[in-house]
Amino acid sequence: MSRPASSPDDSNKAARVLKATVRFDRGRWLVSFSCLVQRTAQRPAHLKRVASTVGVDVGVKDLVVVATPQGDEVMRVRAPKEFRHASRKLRALQRKAARQQGRWDATTRARREPSAGWLRTQQIIAKQHVRVADLRRDRLHKLTTVLAQSFDVIGTETLAVKNMMASGGAHKKGLNRSIGDAGLGEFSRQLDYKTTWYNSLRVQADRWYPSSKTCSGCGCVKTKLSLAERLYVCDNNDCGLQIDRDLNAAINLARYAQAEQSACSDNGGADRKTTAPAALVAAKPESSNGSASPQGEAA
Ligand SMILES: [Zn+2]
Repeated sequence: MSRPASSPDDSNKAARVLKATVRFDRGRWLVSFSCLVQRTAQRPAHLKRVASTVGVDVGVKDLVVVATPQGDEVMRVRAPKEFRHASRKLRALQRKAARQQGRWDATTRARREPSAGWLRTQQIIAKQHVRVADLRRDRLHKLTTVLAQSFDVIGTETLAVKNMMASGGAHKKGLNRSIGDAGLGEFSRQLDYKTTWYNSLRVQADRWYPSSKTCSGCGCVKTKLSLAERLYVCDNNDCGLQIDRDLNAAINLARYAQAEQSACSDNGGADRKTTAPAALVAAKPESSNGSASPQGEAA
């Protein structure tokens, strides 16, 4: 069990378990392992690259759109049905609890004895929270794995979570809910280490790069684009492009990544972070549950 991986052949067969932590959380026992695994920074041969350079737009409404610099949409991923159902059920439960007699009496502004019904609902809510979190984690892992495996160069926005929450407000609500309140940083983190695993490259666009406001047809930039506008309509009369908003952003990010990438190649590829032949990766323990699959191999 604790045999260290020594030769490349062993890379998929041995892992050193450094630590195991057992804890009890919200009605379930959880075990997380901290393991040291030797991995080669190479993509397994059976995984086919779908496209070389792409842009990934993480949009509102549970949507992730992937496009090539040439303007082809190669992937469009919605949150799975179970996830949407589970979130909807959670919100319904929370509304139900609000109608029951809880611990706080708003009229007298004082604590009170909650009803048995309210306590029961709270238990169900706690369970549902765990379910939604599990589904979200599962989805995030599958998504980042597929992205890192399928493409050579992946352009994304700079996913500065705090910044987005602060300046976005209602604007990114849908996104905060689907990828998760803390999940955007997690999306970013996973994409980083998985692109190292699968020997692909991640390019984050400059923080101020207007991926949504730029026209992928003619390159002119809108001053304003409300989130309600799902269709991008170019203001330039000579262009007049009408395109799905998220696809437009993904195309722009793909072109950004392509430009960055060719700039890197001109440097002799010195900036490529994947030049190391093998990466020794200490997988961080996750706030995992009993059914968690090995990190990154969920898809
Ligand atoms: Zn245009």
